[in-house]
Amino acid sequence: MLLKKIEDALNEQVNAEMWSAYLYLAMSLHFEHEGRPGVANWFRVQFQEEQAHALAIMDYLNARDGKVVLQPIAGVPDSWASVKEAFVATLEHERKVTALINNLYAMAEEEKDFATRQKLNTFIAEQVEEEDTVRQIIDDLTLVGEDGTGLYQIDRQLATRTFVAPQL
Ligand code: MG
Repeated sequence: MLLKKIEDALNEQVNAEMWSAYLYLAMSLHFEHEGRPGVANWFRVQFQEEQAHALAIMDYLNARDGKVVLQPIAGVPDSWASVKEAFVATLEHERKVTALINNLYAMAEEEKDFATRQKLNTFIAEQVEEEDTVRQIIDDLTLVGEDGTGLYQIDRQLATRTFVAPQL
């Protein structure tokens, strides 16, 4: 049986992951509109990833006989000045998510909820990967600067990303 405080914290994390999904969907739609189909594709896959994160926590709550409570998803921005600005915002956001997961892990440890702590290990690894991937894209964008050909090539590269369900 889950402790109420851990159940509540996991439900908050479900909402945070759904907000992340909503954020990346907004970015995808914005860059589709801006004629950057590769960037739009990358964020659309990211949208799917975040939904997978939320679902994995919901499945875990159910497996522990917890109750999933869906809360309203707060609004998200609807435009970004450049592709780089969107990826910088993504990195900042993912760092916040990492901090939330670390807090959850600390709570699970403090409450001796070892099953939750173990479940969170996969999320901790996932965050390292997310931040690293986004940092590399930012580095590439910094390298090409305002060069149209470079941006075009990055867009083509981001177009190749496909959704692979994370093992959570
Ligand atoms: Mg996530």
